[in-house]
Amino acid sequence: MNTLPSWKDKALFTPGPLTTSQTVKQAMLRDLGSRDIEFIAVIQAIRQQLVALCADPQAYTAVLMPGSGTSGIEAILSSVLPPDGKLLILINGAYGERIRKIAGIHHIAAATLVFPENTQPDAAALAAALEADAEITHVAVVHCETTTGILNPIEVYGAIAKKYARTYIVDAMSSFGAYPINLPSCGIDFLISSANKCVEGVPGFSFVVARTAALTAIRGFARTLSLDLLAQWEGLERDGQFRFTPPTHALLAFHQALHELEQEGGIVARGERYRQNYAITLTSMHMMGFRPYLDEDKRGYTITSFYYPEHPQFNFRVFYEQLSEKGYVIYPGKLSHADCFRIGHIGRLGAGDVRALMAAIADTLHEMGITNA
Ligand SMILES: *Cc1c(COP(=O)(O)O)cnc(C)c1O
Repeated sequence: MNTLPSWKDKALFTPGPLTTSQTVKQAMLRDLGSRDIEFIAVIQAIRQQLVALCADPQAYTAVLMPGSGTSGIEAILSSVLPPDGKLLILINGAYGERIRKIAGIHHIAAATLVFPENTQPDAAALAAALEADAEITHVAVVHCETTTGILNPIEVYGAIAKKYARTYIVDAMSSFGAYPINLPSCGIDFLISSANKCVEGVPGFSFVVARTAALTAIRGFARTLSLDLLAQWEGLERDGQFRFTPPTHALLAFHQALHELEQEGGIVARGERYRQNYAITLTSMHMMGFRPYLDEDKRGYTITSFYYPEHPQFNFRVFYEQLSEKGYVIYPGKLSHADCFRIGHIGRLGAGDVRALMAAIADTLHEMGITNA
């Protein structure tokens, strides 16, 4: 096609923004008015499709919020906690810590249960905390902690939150679209993810899927104007529009990305492609002498942390730059206490791309003078 660019971008083995399909990028080559009928129909379709992917449309609804994923989390926290509410946060990585930070900025009372980055939050500790502290009204947890790639059992925590009748918030930023999630069966009241992760859209907005009865119960709680979740939902319900300038191009790309998710066979089929990317990565990295940070039973298949090799010639900056020059972008680590880097398995990448990255890593190690067993 003559509209294809002559350049080729580097492949992004990162947690997002990700490599997207050519057709997703092409969907953005339009200028739609934010109040145009065609654009309003796109928003409507996106909201319906999001709910259909994870919940019952009779009882759940979707809200789109401009900004990155963090804005979406901030929209939830600053909108759903009542003035006298208290949030319990399960933390085992940097994104759980970010939830704590957001709560602090909005003067939301918060308790935390903090676990090591290689360990899933303990369900018994959650139950004990809810049993002991009647002031806790809400529980928040990250599904896939992108810090390490650890997958937290959200259905287990959800059952406990429901047993104690607390509102349950899940950051599914880097798992929605890669893992099937059913909101009713996980007891989730508010789930958040963003456009540029496993749905394979481009950055620009996040989305919340909420239990409608929980959403309509938050009137008067919002602490900001532009991140008011209920007001945004009411605007979308009333006239199908964002209250303020929407990211029109990102929404067009996302609409196409949802179509491509369906064409691929839905979330299960997409998860299978990612799982295969992960499996190829693990086998090859193991052969090159790299060790993954997490035990196998805790690892998700969206992103993997590897320890730096214990070799005097290894320098992450050089390793990163040489891979980047070859056309492959990996991701630095974010761990508080271990030297790791990360390789993402998500985005419009398949087995061939992963094998090419593995060959580039082997070449780079060779160039750096690192020989392995
Ligand atoms: C990507 C991500 C976010 C949001 O990050 P932004 O940079 O604000 O888009 C939040 N939580 C998790 C677990 C993530 O992976």
